[in-house]
Amino acid sequence: MNQELWKELEQFALNCKACELCKTRRNVVFGSGDPNSRLWLVGEAPGSNEDEQGLPFVGQAGAILDTFLEKNGFKRHSLFITNVIKCRPPNNADPTEDQKSNCFPILAAQLAIGKPKYILALGRHAAEAFVPKPFRSIKEIRGQVVLSGETKVVVTYHPAAVLRNPRLGEIVEHDIQMMSRLIAGE
Ligand code: SF4
Repeated sequence: MNQELWKELEQFALNCKACELCKTRRNVVFGSGDPNSRLWLVGEAPGSNEDEQGLPFVGQAGAILDTFLEKNGFKRHSLFITNVIKCRPPNNADPTEDQKSNCFPILAAQLAIGKPKYILALGRHAAEAFVPKPFRSIKEIRGQVVLSGETKVVVTYHPAAVLRNPRLGEIVEHDIQMMSRLIAGE
């Protein structure tokens, strides 16, 4: 991976004012972990804790995610974790189409530099970035391998959805196991 380009991109993102979310954010959440990792996790947008710390998945949803990752032999610091939207939408609102299209070039540039082989997409907005066909719900597309260019993508529910509905935990765990087997088999 070209470290210099990556650093340049990070600086660009940290100073980005391409949409109105720059006015209300406390920190830009560029991502954390190792961008050289074969597996990246991509979520939706920072929440309050993420905005405060400038890191992805650090609240309760992050704790759930860590549990699932560790159960399947993954360590958070050895993966790269980011979001489709890099600044927090106020009141945890769903990101708008404009915000997504303004911010997507940053994720696209991250992917072009880091070239992950596998992506676990967490939640609907993350799935929309990688699944080419229209879909109505995560239920319709989760638990299968989708190709996005040369990257193998598995979609699952966002850990915040597991907080609201703990029964989804079993499904997320199943999908992470699936990703683990996929990586181990290649
Ligand atoms: S959300 Fe994305 S496009 Fe909008 S200001 Fe933040 S980094 Fe820039």
